[in-house]
Amino acid sequence: MIDPYGRFVSYLRVSVTDRCDLRCVYCMAEDMSFLPKADILSLEELERLCTAFVRKGVRRIRLTGGEPLVRRNIMSLINRLGHLVEAGQLDELTLTSNGTQLAKYADGLAKAGIRRINISLDTLDADKFATVTRWGRLDQVLDGIMAAKQAGLAIKINTVALKGVNDTEYDRLVEWCGRHGFDLCLIETMPMGEIHADRMEQYLPLSDVRAGLSRHWTLHDTDYRTGGPARYAQVAETGRRVGFITPMTHNFCESCNRVRITCTGTLFMCLGQDDAVDLRAPLRSSEADINLDQAIDQAIARKPKGHDFIIDRRTGPAVSRHMSVTGG
Ligand code: SAM
Ligand code: SF4
Repeated sequence: MIDPYGRFVSYLRVSVTDRCDLRCVYCMAEDMSFLPKADILSLEELERLCTAFVRKGVRRIRLTGGEPLVRRNIMSLINRLGHLVEAGQLDELTLTSNGTQLAKYADGLAKAGIRRINISLDTLDADKFATVTRWGRLDQVLDGIMAAKQAGLAIKINTVALKGVNDTEYDRLVEWCGRHGFDLCLIETMPMGEIHADRMEQYLPLSDVRAGLSRHWTLHDTDYRTGGPARYAQVAETGRRVGFITPMTHNFCESCNRVRITCTGTLFMCLGQDDAVDLRAPLRSSEADINLDQAIDQAIARKPKGHDFIIDRRTGPAVSRHMSVTGG
């Protein structure tokens, strides 16, 4: 699949559920309303969609959400997609998780062929963690992270930079990740969905964060890429990497290789634009995939050049849907 700007689309992110057992303040409002179950694709339908994309050249799939591990029976989908990796049809199957269910699932994930996992952790302070996630317990997530480490999964910790919340903790996070052999990826908060809070107050440019880190750590830029938008530096003192995802201060769209599907089968060609194509109707219209394949081709031909995120008090969120709809 090649888009109008000559970019190869080889990476699919699949939000398997919009539901979550946490309510992170930058991601969701506390009183979120979720999609009716009837609108949501079955796990078999999600597998059929993924297989269609693999047939068209996707080499990497990331399952996300909402929280992917709260979807009932999710291991059946993960196991089936794992077979595609085993068969050489897919280079990689990965997952982004908040870690709450990992103590239970880590071994199964490793057995299914998952090698790397991204786990979100914004703070190592238990009180702050409870505040940021509204409903979360830090010890449960740390247990999950250690279970994933024990299972042999390579771990990347995702941390959203939040002014007034974790801005004194980045050195500690670099040290902690280094000690445990994890990479760390810092993310700028993006204006997605109404959260009943002022994003200007949360937003922290990563250029400032990096300057702060450089006072204590020796950062060497690297060419290392994971297929995502992060730019990595090697931390000389720990031997681990720290990545920066900077949608606000540096537009990374020129090398975008991704599209995203929601749990209702809506295909978003860009995280930061509203244009989307429904794949559920063509999927359900026939057991043959001809309509589905056509709809995918038409969507890729419409992939936009890039996003135009701006955090502005006057205009509200740049896109109305929450991050949990299209997944991170
Ligand atoms: N529940 C899983 C988790 O938290 O890892 C997967 C879904 S979550 C939407 C994926 C990633 O998006 C997380 O790392 C989260 O911190 C990040 N995220 C959510 N809302 C965001 C926002 N408005 N701006 C930047 N990152 C956001
Ligand atoms: Fe849930 Fe992940 Fe959003 Fe937090 S960031 S509310 S864990 S989907």
